[in-house]
Amino acid sequence: MGLKKHIRILQELGYEYLYLEREMENTVEEKLKKLEEINRVIQECKKCDLHKNRTQAVLGEGNPDSRLVFIGEAPGGDEDKQGRPFVGRAGKLLTRLIEATGHKREEFYITNVCKCRPPGNRTPTPWEMEACFPYLRQQLDIIQPKVLCLLGATAARAFLNRHVAITKERGSVINWEDKLLYLTYHPAYVLRNPSEEMTLFEDIKRAIQLAYS
Ligand code: SF4
Repeated sequence: MGLKKHIRILQELGYEYLYLEREMENTVEEKLKKLEEINRVIQECKKCDLHKNRTQAVLGEGNPDSRLVFIGEAPGGDEDKQGRPFVGRAGKLLTRLIEATGHKREEFYITNVCKCRPPGNRTPTPWEMEACFPYLRQQLDIIQPKVLCLLGATAARAFLNRHVAITKERGSVINWEDKLLYLTYHPAYVLRNPSEEMTLFEDIKRAIQLAYS
């Protein structure tokens, strides 16, 4: 059924206002606007000490309508400077592996649990992740993905609230609220352990298949 016909039938049934409002809420433009609002808030956020050393907070980027979101732990030095997620060496590896699956990075949304860079690229503390998690939750509420591909043990811990042995648990699919978590390595780990590159590639491929099946 064409969109115009669909709207006409709903108008006849008295649903005109509700239908149009829901359509508006779900447009890509509307999603981008809402994400931009979160971006404005995090640039001013001082909820945890990570704000003290940041150049800027890094919200995330990509397709706001994606069924798959890649989530790391926090921005690093390059990300902090450029204001974009996964643009350093680990990010370049992630981009290359996504492209090796036949997709483009821009097709998906990419972000981190913490929006500000921890000093010296240390792992964010549980408290810092807890403080920042509501922003990620708001992003996910807007994007409404089906699958969250968690890159590394720290991102997985933020969702599961327990220790995660990523070498044992990678490849796991876990129900979380109305979404699926797909656990895999952080690309930075693969840079240190190049023999695991094919494993990360296969995981990314599987996460994409899961999201779009
Ligand atoms: S890491 Fe998150 S909670 Fe902490 S200051 Fe940055 S935006 Fe705020």
